[in-house]
Amino acid sequence: TDDAQYLCSLIRTIPGFPAEGINFRDFMPVFADPRGHDLLLQALIADLPVDTNDFEFIAGLEARGFLLGTALADRLNKGFIAVRKAGKLPPPVVSQSYDLEYGSATMEIEEGLVPAGSRILVIDDLIATGGTAWAAMKLFESVGCSVAGFSFVMELQGLHGVSQLDNKPTSSLMVMP
Ligand code: IMP
Repeated sequence: TDDAQYLCSLIRTIPGFPAEGINFRDFMPVFADPRGHDLLLQALIADLPVDTNDFEFIAGLEARGFLLGTALADRLNKGFIAVRKAGKLPPPVVSQSYDLEYGSATMEIEEGLVPAGSRILVIDDLIATGGTAWAAMKLFESVGCSVAGFSFVMELQGLHGVSQLDNKPTSSLMVMP
């Protein structure tokens, strides 16, 4: 449709950033454009992987997941939780490390923000290897919560990230080979 085409036209691809061989997808022009921003949120809501009654919180993954997650939480009247890179949140925090191609990374949430038993929708702009989304799932499970599903704007299918997510309901607005 025209709307989908318009939205896609706002996503820039930058070859060779942040490293040789990587095609970086830049979502910032979407946020800079009022119509694009609104269309993106509408599309995410139309394409939720689960019913809105099946979760109480939306968790956004640093950094674009914060932008998407807070806007979506506001539209859906849900709480918002930031999942951050290690060292940014004040204690007490819960940490989860995951493997990267070279080395590892750690994500954190603040302890005590989500009551045990809460159900969480995790959102991010892009899923590549799935490590970041997997770490978020483990973080919430370690505090007695469960991930109801995952929403992504873009999925890099060739990296099979979704296969790491324990068969949780997942939606990706745009799937790249
Ligand atoms: P993963 O952990 O390998 O799935 O990588 C996903 C994380 O890296 C997400 O938080 C994305 O925001 C970020 N990321 C990886 N590639 C890109 C890209 O091309 N554009 C924007 N973000 C990216």
